[in-house]
Amino acid sequence: MKLISIFLMFLSCNAPALPSEKGATAAIDQPSASTMATDSIVPPTYDADNHLVKVTKTKAEWKKQLSPDAYSVLREEGTERAYAGKLWDNHQKGTYICAGCGLPLFSSDTKFESGTGWPSFYQPFNETCITENTDESYGMTRTEVECARCGGHQGHVFNDGPKPTGLRYCINSVSLKFVAN
Ligand SMILES: [Zn+2]
Repeated sequence: MKLISIFLMFLSCNAPALPSEKGATAAIDQPSASTMATDSIVPPTYDADNHLVKVTKTKAEWKKQLSPDAYSVLREEGTERAYAGKLWDNHQKGTYICAGCGLPLFSSDTKFESGTGWPSFYQPFNETCITENTDESYGMTRTEVECARCGGHQGHVFNDGPKPTGLRYCINSVSLKFVAN
């Protein structure tokens, strides 16, 4: 019975498209581009000294690639409004990548409910994907988190996170893209 309903579903989903049009339909249905940023994982590459190969672009190139909101956060260290982003309440399994360059930055396995309205993680995807800098803006001393490959601003890391690390990576949705497993 279950098989039959799956079969019927398959038929009804596919009925409108002619076989020759399927490819084109699929391409059009891809989540498009409120931004032109990278939508899929771009794995890291390393030079002969085993250093991560960086991505460098001019301001104009970033402006062309990114939406105004993503540019403001990634390249000008802006912060999106709490609960305004698309990913704080995402519970799917997958990988969070840099919206600027596609480097994997966080896994859904380390995402937790921080109650802040920003996607929150207790550890980065690995030890080399994130760069941390001291940020003394707004009269506070905080630790800024950047993508180690393109330098895109992601958010901040705080010491009030859950076990096992006790860290809270508080990240802007617009700095990330989510790739489901
Ligand atoms: Zn990046």
